[in-house]
Amino acid sequence: MSLATSPEAATPVRIHADRSAGTLRIEWGDAHVSTYDALGLRWLCPCAYCRGEAGLPGWLDTGPTLTAEQSRLVNVHLIGSYAIAPEWADGHHTGYYPFVLLRDRCPCETCTAGRPNDSSSRTREVPS
Ligand SMILES: [Zn+2]
Ligand SMILES: [Zn+2]
Repeated sequence: MSLATSPEAATPVRIHADRSAGTLRIEWGDAHVSTYDALGLRWLCPCAYCRGEAGLPGWLDTGPTLTAEQSRLVNVHLIGSYAIAPEWADGHHTGYYPFVLLRDRCPCETCTAGRPNDSSSRTREVPS
C-alpha cells in the first residue's frame, strides 16, 4: 500500500502551528489530519546541513542531542504551494519540507502501521 499517492493527500487545506504545545497540525485535502511534534519535525529536516549532500553525512546523521532551542518551533513559513519551512528557536530555518514528505512521514497510528519499518526515519533517503 502506497501512501500519499493522490494529489489531495499531499495538499494541505489547513496548517496550524501551535507554538505553546510545540506541535504542527496539518489537515489534508483527503480529510486526513497529521499532528507532528516539534522534535520529530526537527529530525525530519531535509536541508543540506542537516541531511548532508553529495554523499556526505549531515548534522542529523551524527546523532546529535537536540537542545530545547533546536527543537522549539517559533514559526512556520509557507514556501509556494509545495512546502513549508519551519523556523526554530536556534535560528535554523533553511529546511524546506515538501508536503509529500510530510504526508509520507505522518506520525499517526494509521500511517505508522502502514509503513514497513518506522524505527529508522533516517534510512529512507533515496540515492539519486
Ligand atoms: Zn536543517
Ligand atoms: Zn496519518
